[in-house]
Parts: sequence; structure tokens; C-alpha cells
Amino acid sequence: MKAAVVKETLPGERRVALVPEAITKLRPAGIDVLVENGAGDGAWLSDAAYADAGASIVSAAEIYRTADVILTVTRPSPAAVNELRPGQAVIGMLAPLTDPELAATLAARGVTAISLDGLPRTLSRAQPMDALTSQANVAGYKAVLVAAGEFGRFFPLLITAAGTAPPAKVLVLGAGVAGLQAIGTARRLGAVVSGYDVRPASKGEVESLGATFIELTSVESAAGEGGYARELTAEERQAQQDELAGHIARHDVVITTAQVPGRRPPLLVTDDALKAMSAGAVIVDMGASALGGNVTGSRPGETVVTGNGIRIIGADNLPATVPTASSNAYSRNISALLLHMTSDGALAIDTSDEIQAGVVIAHDGTIVHEAVARLLHRGGSEGPAPSDPAAPAETLTKGGVTDVSGTTD
Ligand code: NAD
Repeated sequence: MKAAVVKETLPGERRVALVPEAITKLRPAGIDVLVENGAGDGAWLSDAAYADAGASIVSAAEIYRTADVILTVTRPSPAAVNELRPGQAVIGMLAPLTDPELAATLAARGVTAISLDGLPRTLSRAQPMDALTSQANVAGYKAVLVAAGEFGRFFPLLITAAGTAPPAKVLVLGAGVAGLQAIGTARRLGAVVSGYDVRPASKGEVESLGATFIELTSVESAAGEGGYARELTAEERQAQQDELAGHIARHDVVITTAQVPGRRPPLLVTDDALKAMSAGAVIVDMGASALGGNVTGSRPGETVVTGNGIRIIGADNLPATVPTASSNAYSRNISALLLHMTSDGALAIDTSDEIQAGVVIAHDGTIVHEAVARLLHRGGSEGPAPSDPAAPAETLTKGGVTDVSGTTD
């Protein structure tokens, strides 16, 4: 089987699907690797390094002509989709619940579409393949560095001949994978850190990292299915925003990571909360999206400065800004999945397997993933409602955001 790594084409995308180290591990399974010229450049991985590891360095045209499986980080561009042949497979983070039309186009072309963001994450044997987790880890780490870079003071307590600098007070809202990594990173930089989440289970995790857990009196547990949070009701949301505002005002740096599967990110930092913050405070909104994020007024890829001197940084593809670490991790994830799906040197599609049932979206000209098929049937790019009993707990959710609620925060 020929597996090929293409150069990513999205603006600012510096990751690459496989690193050279992976190639030696794939060969014993009968997988030969083709690498597009310059595919690893953004992560400082040279063509020579891939060739030394045993890959063939080829043009994009040769990949589309000869490869059996094409490995990507994000979705292939429309131009690349046009090059794909029936019987070829694409494996990447294809975000089929955000962009079911891509899945439909791939199915119509007879291309097998396999998306890592559909992995059943709580299955222990799937953990080496969990790209959502590996990339969220990188993002949580980088969010803190971005905040520290913008902040006008030190993160640690510093006692010098020129005086004593107090430590920064950092608040992390949402303590999932990215949030916990952000808490750990801010702690390692010496900040005084607090964390908050609607899932009570996160309290112990936050505290184990040396941070203080903030408990709100107005909001009860919002633990949902599969370890994720459920969406709050309008009343709960209002109460949460009001109570959080007081905590937010007491912090110098706020990092928000809150997400709810299949829903737009919850608004946690309102206009009133922003007004109560002190000039010089910095917020990094990891939920920033075109549909709104965790912070009023945040815009992905932009820094917005409020009238009272608060900088709101809308995070935009943070993993791509730490390209070698994120590519190393992603490469292990996608290699593990590829090896899992390979039998006798060929891709063996078997959706009776729990892992494959989550990741295989299209095969043999058909959309085989139920949640994506339902979406296409309904004719919209909606995520399944968390309360939908037919929605798998490991729903494909994280490639983007969809507003299915019709509500405004
Ligand atoms: P996520 O990206 O969906 O959400 C990030 C965090 O935001 C979550 O912790 C969520 O509870 C929180 N959140 C949602 N709405 C909120 C609100 N209104 N206010 C405050 N916080 C809110 O989550 P994730 O990082 O993908 O992880 C979700 C869970 O899955 C975690 O418990 C994580 O440990 C677990 N997980 C388990 C595995 C595994 O078992 N291998 C792998 C990955 C994640």
C-alpha cells in the first residue's frame, strides 16, 4: 500500500501529517510512504530527512495518480478533492459535522473518507490515535505563552534589587484537555492559577495541578455524555455569567477553553465582566470562532482591545504555531490509526470495529457514518444535539463550531 503525505495548503498551516520517524514504523506493515516535495518545511522537516527514513519524495500530481491512502492534517482543498480518484482513501481531521458537504463530495467521487475527529476517545485502545487530545494539549500550552507574551508584567513572583513583582493571577475557564494543559503551563511559569469547569469531576484534576478550583453557587453540575459538558439552559447560562464576572475581574489573565459538543461555544466573559477588569489584563479565547466564542467581541486570529484596555486575543489554530511538536504527536496518532486499519498490506475497512465505526465517514460511494448521514439528510451542517439518543457519545465535534441551538447568549 502506498500512503502519501501532502503539503497542507490552508493559510498559516505549518503541520505535516507524518514525521520521518513514523516511516520506519509503517514499512513493516507493508506501507510505503510517498511525501510531497516540501511537505514538512513548515515544521522544519526536510525532504532529505524523509528520504533518509525511506520515503519517496514526489510531486503532488504523482501522489494523486498513484497513492492508495492520502494522509492530511486538515481538510483537503477543493483543488485537491478534484484530483482524488475512486478507491483512494483520505485520512485526516476532516470535520465532517462542520462540513458534511465535503464528506458527501468525497463519497460521490468514490473516495473513502476517514476522520480522526470521530474517534471514540474514551476507548483506551484508541488513545494513541486521539488527535483531538494531542492537538488540544499543544493549543493549551501555546495559549499561555501567547498570554504571557502580551501581558505587561511577569508571570512569576520575582524578588530583585529593583523591587518585588507580584505573580500574575491567571484564570482558566474550561478544564478539559486544553484547559488542564494551560493550567499546568501557567503554573510552571510561576503564576497563581485558578480553574473552573461545569463538570464537577474536573475539580480534582485542577487541584492536582496546584491550582485553585472555583465553585459557583449558582450553577449545578453540567456533566453530559462521554465525559463532555452539556449545554446550559438560558437561566443557568445567565447565572454563570453573572457569578463568573466577579472572579474574572480579580484576574490579570484569563484563558477560555469551554466547548460543548455540536454547539457554539458558551459565552463566559460578557461585556459587563470585561468592564470590571483592570487595564492591562489579557484574555486568550480558545473558543473564538466566526459564530462567537467564550468572550464577547473575540474574533479568531485577531486581537481586540476594549475601551478600558483589555486585550482579547482570539486564538486561531494554535497547534499550527508549534508545528514540530504538534506534527510529532499527530504523526503518532495517524500512524496508529493507519496501522489499526491495515491488514495484509492493504486498508481493511470494517465498520463493525468500534474505532472504525467512529472514523470511517464515507466508503464505496456511500456516507457510512450515521451522524453525518443524518446531517446530510436534514440538509444542513448541524451537529447532533447532545440530548439526541441516537448521537454517539464520541460524536464528531471538534473540527469547528455549529450553531444548532438558534439561541443567543
Ligand atoms: P471540550 O473541548 O469539549 O471542552 C472543554 C471544556 O469546556 C470541558 O472540560 C467542558 O466541561 C468545559 N465546558 C463546557 N461548557 C462549559 C461552561 N459553560 N462553563 C465552563 N466550562 C465549560 O472537552 P475536551 O477537552 O475534549 O475534554 C472533555 C472531557 O473528555 C474531559 O473530561 C476529558 O478529560 C475527557 N477526555 C477523555 C479522554 C479519554 O478518556 N481518553 C480523552 C480526551 C478527553
